[in-house]
Amino acid sequence: MREVYLDNNATTQVAPEVVEAMLPFLKELYGNPSSMHAFGGKIGAHLERARESVARLVGAERPSEIIFTSCGTEADSTAIWSALNTEPDKSHIITSRVEHPAVRSLALHLKRKGYHVTELPVDSAGLLDPRDVERAITKKTALISIMAANNETGVLFPIEEIGRIAASHGVKFHTDAVQLVGKVHLDVRSLNVNLLALSGHKIHAPKGIGALYVRRGTRFRPFLIGGHQERGRRGGTEAVPNIVALGKAAELALEHVDEEQSRVRALRDRLERGLLEAIPSAKVNGDPQQRLPNTTNISFEHVEGEAILLMMSDLGMAASSGSACTSGSLEPSHVLRAMGVPYTFAHGSIRFSLSRYTTDDDVDYVLEHMPAIIARLREISPFWKG
Ligand code: PLP
Repeated sequence: MREVYLDNNATTQVAPEVVEAMLPFLKELYGNPSSMHAFGGKIGAHLERARESVARLVGAERPSEIIFTSCGTEADSTAIWSALNTEPDKSHIITSRVEHPAVRSLALHLKRKGYHVTELPVDSAGLLDPRDVERAITKKTALISIMAANNETGVLFPIEEIGRIAASHGVKFHTDAVQLVGKVHLDVRSLNVNLLALSGHKIHAPKGIGALYVRRGTRFRPFLIGGHQERGRRGGTEAVPNIVALGKAAELALEHVDEEQSRVRALRDRLERGLLEAIPSAKVNGDPQQRLPNTTNISFEHVEGEAILLMMSDLGMAASSGSACTSGSLEPSHVLRAMGVPYTFAHGSIRFSLSRYTTDDDVDYVLEHMPAIIARLREISPFWKG
């Protein structure tokens, strides 16, 4: 059976070049970079090369602004705790209602601990108004943490404007750029971003590696306190094969970022147009323009997202749904709820996320089978009157 993987915002295939690059570090180059002997001594230069590649991908001024972490979640946590710990007299955080759990769950945890958390709304297109950020700032604000691109809808956030606002008020700004990096040109030098999180497994590196950009001059406290690794900013023996992999994936991402904007975007648009034309009562969630080039989130009215996914999976197709089955009840995602998507649509939302490995044939296959899947599910839906 044909396999069509359109769930790249969840995770990506590891690029073959990345596998090749990391193999020597799983075999002969196994030294600990902190060791004094030659086994360890050989490793440091590779770590630094990877740091340079990641710095180049995000447009950092210096490689030393990059700290390797175990994942995007750790990078987000590190950023938020660092901002709070460097300003202990401040107790207010500004974030949005549509953050990934990597930020949202921590923000809720902090709220329970007594911090004041402002969760800014988005409009029906998923867009955030930067003026709301400015209005929310108080003397107690330690951090603004707002994502660069939403993982479910692909909607882009105005990080340049938020950065300007944050800087003019002297407030630190962290952005979760896990979904943006590699899909859109990024130049942190031109943004007033203090901290930026990214994750390897979203850009064709393996799982278990991420990075945090910390702008030079930003006061910082480590999250993992331990050895002197990462210049004392993150304890723990470096995950050398994964770091090398992230470096290679960053190089490749930079080479392919124009393709994301052209070929991948054109494929996504063809998929979206084709589905909307062939299937009645279907609509896109998220602003059509301010969006990642690889993502489309489409709601099919009066069908359950999980049922769609299962039928897609039977035909070899992978995507994901905006509703999650928790304790037997199907709850639409917090993102679609924040956008005010009506329940009849929110339940039947599917996220298709493409990558540079997605082909024309993949899109043809989805367009061939989706109309029948939705029609079949609507036949058995008690609500569909089409
Ligand atoms: N932030 C966003 C926007 C994400 O989409 C994800 C992963 O889905 C994360 C953070 C977490 O990254 P990781 O899986 O590397 O911890």
